[in-house]
Amino acid sequence: MNTEEFRHYGHLCIDWLADFFEHIKDLPVTPALKPGDIKKSLPDQAPELGESMDVIFDDFLKKILPGMTHWQHPRWFAYFPANNSPESVLGELLSAGLGAQCMIWQTSPAAEELEEQVMDWLKKMLHLPSEMRGVIQDTASTATLCALIAAREKKSDYAINERGFSDNKFIVYTSTESHSSLEKGAKIAGFGKNNIRLIPVDDSYAMKAEEFERQIQHDIECGSIPTCLSATVGTTSSSALDPLAALGPICRKYNIWFHVDAAYAGSAAILPEKRYILDGVEYADSFVFNPHKWLLTNFDCSAFFVRSADDLVRSLAIHPEYLKTGVDAEVNNYRDWGIQLGRRFRALKLWFVLRSYGTEGLQQMLRSHIQWAGQVKEWIEKDDRFQLLAPVPLSLVCFRYFNERRGDAALNTFNERLLKNINKTGKVFMTHTVLRGMYTLRMVIGQRTTTFNDVAETWELIQSETKKLEGDI
Ligand SMILES: *Cc1c(COP(=O)(O)O)cnc(C)c1O
Repeated sequence: MNTEEFRHYGHLCIDWLADFFEHIKDLPVTPALKPGDIKKSLPDQAPELGESMDVIFDDFLKKILPGMTHWQHPRWFAYFPANNSPESVLGELLSAGLGAQCMIWQTSPAAEELEEQVMDWLKKMLHLPSEMRGVIQDTASTATLCALIAAREKKSDYAINERGFSDNKFIVYTSTESHSSLEKGAKIAGFGKNNIRLIPVDDSYAMKAEEFERQIQHDIECGSIPTCLSATVGTTSSSALDPLAALGPICRKYNIWFHVDAAYAGSAAILPEKRYILDGVEYADSFVFNPHKWLLTNFDCSAFFVRSADDLVRSLAIHPEYLKTGVDAEVNNYRDWGIQLGRRFRALKLWFVLRSYGTEGLQQMLRSHIQWAGQVKEWIEKDDRFQLLAPVPLSLVCFRYFNERRGDAALNTFNERLLKNINKTGKVFMTHTVLRGMYTLRMVIGQRTTTFNDVAETWELIQSETKKLEGDI
């Protein structure tokens, strides 16, 4: 492709995306497809001869687009959001065009220094402890793995990096409600699943601090070594808030690394009225949240902060001859802050977003989402056919259809069918979880393009599908 062709097709792609943003609301949120349908439509081999961009783009429209699940749809209420914005798409485009591989300062000074600066901005926006320093990771899963490795190394006086595990008594704590990435990270970091302690939760699904301390004491009595706690602010099932202010002092007392996973909820801490969700983060050794979830920066962009960069870097640094530069003593080489060597220039899109929206613009969006979730909660509370299943501190509403004449098993079947029917309309997309054995519908409001009308019409859809199913049974 020559420069003129690039210009032509570049404009075409941007025009197409602009139209897509305008009209995405008219597309089904999820495609009606069977597994294998898309693959069947594609040739078995890469083409021998190059094809024209017109043909390729046409195939994108005909073969790929119909198989997409539309995360940017205004009626995306599933999982947690992964929202984007035109600003972030432009930042991503420029980053791809620059094509820099930003492993160390020398491989792109601007990328490294911008990353430091935007992480510092985020730290101030969230009022994180001033001594914390940040790095952009691909995902919260990776950030949590890094925290686990640093905790392990600090606790073993950096011996495991040298010798590997000999007798593994290093214990990781988290709640029964924590994200699966903690288990995966603990396995990868060599702790082993059996050394993860799942601490019970209270009625709001938040970790019980006294149970945490009791478990620590038990482990110490058994000769184990309490090493790391991963607390969650905004659990994936129900957005429960672990009590950081109660857990932090316990970690200090027993010299346990305190990691805070706020992947979804962290963004809300830029609101003064919601900053309480991070009360106690001043005790944290590490903290992660995902601007790629709820802060308009397209996937991937995960903000990871550590209180002592030295602890992290000592755990992950490598010093091959071919990467040595004359300025290593003066600069920050982010390759030593994470798993991978090569790094994308992610700070650019985040910088675009933070500057274009300003803190106030982002706050406005978050406030709307939280307010509308509060409205859905009220509707549910006022309607006898529905039951709220968890508190709604932010923008996730957990609920189910309820009828006291039916047992839990029948209710579970009903709610599962209800969700399926709602999603089958293609008009909205919600997902589920199970809370205390109850099949639970989750409605998360977090899309840039969502309006109050989308929320209200979705509530109407939920009611009408419920009515239909009640008639059937
Ligand atoms: C989404 C989520 C994660 C995983 O995030 P990734 O960035 O996809 O790894 C981890 N923890 C919590 C609480 C989450 O909600």
